[in-house]
Amino acid sequence: MSNSQVFFEQVPVGAYRNFSYIVADLSRSDAAIFDPAWEIESLLSRLRDRNLQLKYIINTHAHLDHIQGNVELKRRTGAKIVMHQASLAMKDSGVVDREELSLGEEVRLKFIHTPGHSPESMCIQVNDFALITGDTLFIGECGRVDLPGGDASALFDSFEKLRRLDPSLIVYPGHDYGKSPRATLAEELKTNYTLAKMSREEFVKFMNS
Ligand SMILES: [Zn+2]
Repeated sequence: MSNSQVFFEQVPVGAYRNFSYIVADLSRSDAAIFDPAWEIESLLSRLRDRNLQLKYIINTHAHLDHIQGNVELKRRTGAKIVMHQASLAMKDSGVVDREELSLGEEVRLKFIHTPGHSPESMCIQVNDFALITGDTLFIGECGRVDLPGGDASALFDSFEKLRRLDPSLIVYPGHDYGKSPRATLAEELKTNYTLAKMSREEFVKFMNS
């Protein structure tokens, strides 16, 4: 949390160690949910507990384990579904690299297009403290590139983008696959073997091996 008006919660959901995230401006009670899946009733009750109004459903990418709750949540709340414009899944709004979105007055979301795991993958920076990375980057690992639309060379460029961000950002991944559920970007740049400095050629070979 960067200040007392901003709510941020990492919610473990489902049998595949997914994480959903709830972000809200408490001064306006406006909320967004990232990658809602598997446990929609639990996510809805978390919103109700704090009297939050769901404005946006935002997906890091369009794989089923990250969007599976979209339709039900939209039906129950009227929230708008936001994804990268390259996504073929049902959405209300398609965003592009570096686009920003305000949530209430206290939360500023910045979309960073990071293809590689899938063409529409993106990371979302929340104010100056969090980076929701989906399946682009896990703690100590990264997402696979051998699924349809996966592209190791694109992931190389996406990692170059992440290297230019503020290293004090906390990485919040799409799955709990690491030794901890979150870590700073600085820590990942130092210890995550998939972020080790390699040439593009070395990286592509490494990812496809
Ligand atoms: Zn995925």
